[in-house]
Amino acid sequence: MHGLREKCGIFGVFAPGEDVARLTFFGLHALQHRGQESAGIATTDGRKLNIFAEMGLVAQVFDEDTLAGLPGHAAIGHTRYSTTGSSVLGNAQPFLIKGVLGELAIAHNGNVVNADIMRADLEARGTRFETTSDTEVLGHLLAAAPSHWQDGFATMMRRAVGAYSLVILSKEALYAVRDPLGIRPLCIGRLNGHGWVFASETCALDHLGAEFVREVAPGEVVRVDEHGLTSTFPLGDAGDQALCLFEFIYFARPDSKLDGQLLHPVRMRMGARLSEEHPVDADLVIGVPDSATAAAIGYAAASGIPYAEGLVKNRYVGRTFIQPDQRLRERGVQLKYNPLREVIQGKRVIVVDDSIVRGTTTPRVVKMLRDAGAVEVHMRITSPPITHPCFYGVDMATRGELIAANMEVDAIRDHIGADSLGYLSLDGTVQATGLDDGRHCTACFSGVYPSEVPLQFDKFALESEASRPDHEIPVIAARPATIPLTAGRP
Ligand code: AMP
Repeated sequence: MHGLREKCGIFGVFAPGEDVARLTFFGLHALQHRGQESAGIATTDGRKLNIFAEMGLVAQVFDEDTLAGLPGHAAIGHTRYSTTGSSVLGNAQPFLIKGVLGELAIAHNGNVVNADIMRADLEARGTRFETTSDTEVLGHLLAAAPSHWQDGFATMMRRAVGAYSLVILSKEALYAVRDPLGIRPLCIGRLNGHGWVFASETCALDHLGAEFVREVAPGEVVRVDEHGLTSTFPLGDAGDQALCLFEFIYFARPDSKLDGQLLHPVRMRMGARLSEEHPVDADLVIGVPDSATAAAIGYAAASGIPYAEGLVKNRYVGRTFIQPDQRLRERGVQLKYNPLREVIQGKRVIVVDDSIVRGTTTPRVVKMLRDAGAVEVHMRITSPPITHPCFYGVDMATRGELIAANMEVDAIRDHIGADSLGYLSLDGTVQATGLDDGRHCTACFSGVYPSEVPLQFDKFALESEASRPDHEIPVIAARPATIPLTAGRP
């Protein structure tokens, strides 16, 4: 199963009388940064479901004709991001699933850790799968509900372990669901006083002129139909939230709010804290655009060193990670940034970026700045070293590929060719979010996973990753208190 490397944008709208396909198109366009590989929309007019999904950016996938073929009063949409293996049309969402209670379309952001086990179980009972995605497993668990969708949600939530923010469309209703840990975001908005909107990020509501109502709560199933909005918690009270810290650092747009916090000032605070933790004498502070711009402004303001624009980004090159192999990723870095020689030449430059993952981008950025005449390059990162892979839908690479899982900070500094390197502490990162400690998933920095995860990742401290094949995921262990993955929730 290739679901491991997915982070995506999802959107849903219930708005009789509106052009819901077009609204979904605009919503997905606002969420394009969450996935650039494929895009899809499903709609319903109450009689049947219509669906269209293709590889490509939202604006490449849809045109007037395809949107006209998606009539109805409710819709869901998805922008997909993945890496090799799942980079095929068959895995483009939403998926259409046929069940006892009829058809449903499903779109997913996150990753379900025990999907392989559940899939084998379903296959043994005769379910046929058309994709390699964990999302299809969730859809079938739901669709297997014998009498009522609510039973399906309870079954699905009891069994699935990991991250799933979902939008689901049946002929009768639109649903929005968040896993009990609330690992990936999902919010609710009100449209023109009569419609309802769901989106991975609040920036999509802003673009549509929808009013933010609240977030879907961890463990909640929200249903919208012509009678309005109802909410249930199939597993009872949700447990502790574990919202992904990396959403705050990098993924989500700076104009989105997560858990009530606007991310632009959050990132400025991260930069300010970084300047306290890792001060250095220099002439300029620049950010790696666009994701680190707010943090660089925060660093500059707190340190008193002037902020400047030193790198210009070609905004039509996708995120370097989006390229599904390393060779393409490397070329991507060169195509993406161009240094402003006049600004940088002869200067001691502090460069702020949000993260170092594999260590592909940073050495190239440092070299680019030196070639443009920088006399010193001081790298500052607004996250702690990433030492553990993500299991919940972020492409963090395998542990063998994570540079900080294999090197100390001094060695990384030498590898990237910087004069100095400073990472923000985990405390500093968490405090900058403005949320209480313990409300985030910090697994990629701390190794503390909020659910069971494959043992491969936990055992790293004891043995070398290089000797273990990537896909060998034998048994599970994360926190002793959690339920064994093989069993799912009781
Ligand atoms: P790397 O080149 O592998 O060290 O990746 C670090 C760069 O990629 C940073 O500039 C980040 O802004 C960006 N980045 C970090 N994580 C991701 C991700 N999961 N997907 C896409 N880009 C990322």
